[in-house]
Amino acid sequence: MGRIVESTAAMTLIAPSAALTQQLAGQLRQRQSDLRATLQAAIDAAAGAAPGEVVDFKDVAAEDTRAQIDEVAHAHAAGELDQIATALRRVYAGTYGQCADCGERIDERRLRALPATPFCTACQAIHERPALRR
Ligand SMILES: [Zn+2]
Repeated sequence: MGRIVESTAAMTLIAPSAALTQQLAGQLRQRQSDLRATLQAAIDAAAGAAPGEVVDFKDVAAEDTRAQIDEVAHAHAAGELDQIATALRRVYAGTYGQCADCGERIDERRLRALPATPFCTACQAIHERPALRR
């Protein structure tokens, strides 16, 4: 198309459609409650393994390994929950779909695939490869 009035272009570029935003926000809330349930189950399980139980020593190493794996999984889940909470705040603030770094609109296909992402594809690439940043 020919010339576009700058301010109008900026307005239309900022957000995905309201319908898409609501759809993705719904997915984010669903994922949020799933992750919370997963973390809560892990906390309950940990609470269930009360100290004072008789421990078979050959199981201890396996327990340690499992605890480490759980810790990584939980840190990942907690990180994802943070990202989802941030994304939902952006939905409420009306800035959802806008890259947190450069402010450009995030591609709709990217949002559908990764509803919680705060970055556009270009900025995500920079974040994932900081060594290449000049
Ligand atoms: Zn960006």
